This record gives sequence, C-alpha cells and structure tokens, in this order.
Amino acid sequence: MTNIIILGPPGSGKGTQSKILVEKQNFFQISTGDLLRKTVESGTEEGNKIQKIMESGELVSDEMVIEMILVEMSTNNSKKFIFDGFPRNIAQAKALDSAFEDKSMILDFVLLLDVKLDFLENRIKSRIAESDPSNIRKDDNVETLSKRLNVYKKITYPIIDFYEKKNKLVRINGMDSIEDVTNKIIQIIN
Ligand code: ADP
Repeated sequence: MTNIIILGPPGSGKGTQSKILVEKQNFFQISTGDLLRKTVESGTEEGNKIQKIMESGELVSDEMVIEMILVEMSTNNSKKFIFDGFPRNIAQAKALDSAFEDKSMILDFVLLLDVKLDFLENRIKSRIAESDPSNIRKDDNVETLSKRLNVYKKITYPIIDFYEKKNKLVRINGMDSIEDVTNKIIQIIN
C-alpha cells in the first residue's frame, strides 16, 4: 500500500496532480485545504473563523488540521493515501509520523513539486482568469498569494529538509506540463 505526500508552494499543482492520481491510481486524497473549505461552507462560527484565516493567507491551527487528518485516516482505513497541503510545518509532520506509527503504516514518498516562486504569480493569475467568477477561491489573489508564499518559505520550507533526512524526498520539476508531471510521479511511485 503506497502512501505519499505531495508538497510544494501554493499554485504548484498539488491539488491538480492529487486529483489525477485519485482517478488513475486509485489513491484516496486527503486535502486539508479542501476539508477546511468544506467547513467554511458549513457557515458555522468555526467555519467563519477559518474563512478569515484562509483569506489572510495564514495557517489555521495545528490542532484543527491534525484532528481532521486523524479522522480522515481512521474513517478511510486500508486505502492508499495522498496527502495534499498537509503537513505544512514541522509540528504537523511529526504528528503525521506518529499517526503512521500508531497505525503501522509506512510513508513511501514525499514528492516535492519544485516551481520557481516568480512562476507562481502568473499561474495564480491565470487560475483566476480561467475560473468561473462565482467560483474563484477567496485566497486566490495577488496580495494573499504573496502572504501564502511567505508562509510557505518561512514555515513550510523546513519540512523539505525534515523529509530529505529521512530519505523520503523526491524532487519533481513542477514547471513541466501537467501530463509530464503526472507521468513522472507514476514512474516514481510504481
Ligand atoms: P495552496 O496550497 O494553494 O495554498 P490549500 O488549499 O492547500 O492551497 O490551502 C489554502 C489555505 O488553507 C492555506 O493558505 C491555509 O490558510 C489553510 N490550510 C490548508 N492546509 C493547512 C494546514 N495543513 N495547516 C494549516 N492551514 C492550512
């Protein structure tokens, strides 16, 4: 059973590739961003709080996302997981390590979608341009993107080193075409 993390800056294609891997390789996707957006849609007080944090480009609390991950893992036992957008800092990476250990599961690969940071602004701009106006993510705008990129550089970056030391990290050129990136991933994990 292969379990992978897909890692990369905002706009690097994690969500796109994860969804393709669900289709083509039968993975179960655990995306904290998607789970949080669902909570926001619920319109509860908690959802409203999360919405504000997401729109600011900051991270929501570790406690909340770790709880979400644990629930998803437990309710989808014996599936092969692709983690998308999680972990995003060292505390989350350690919590995931413990969850794997508790469940006697193995993390096989951490796939880093390497994308030059100046490339991302253009990607997000075209994502906005191509989206149905009623469907644009509230955090997809140039101001929030620069905040999200700063959070990535400061807070998420150290987990690259964390997984490199565990010999789990594989770098993939995220500036290649969607299809080329998918093919590369499939080649690595199989
Ligand atoms: P992207 O990777 O393009 O930034 P996501 O959908 O993964 O988009 O995340 C959107 C927002 O959701 C983040 O900016 C953050 O506020 C919140 N978020 C997602 N995953 C996490 C996480 N693991 N920990 C804390 N906050 C998260």
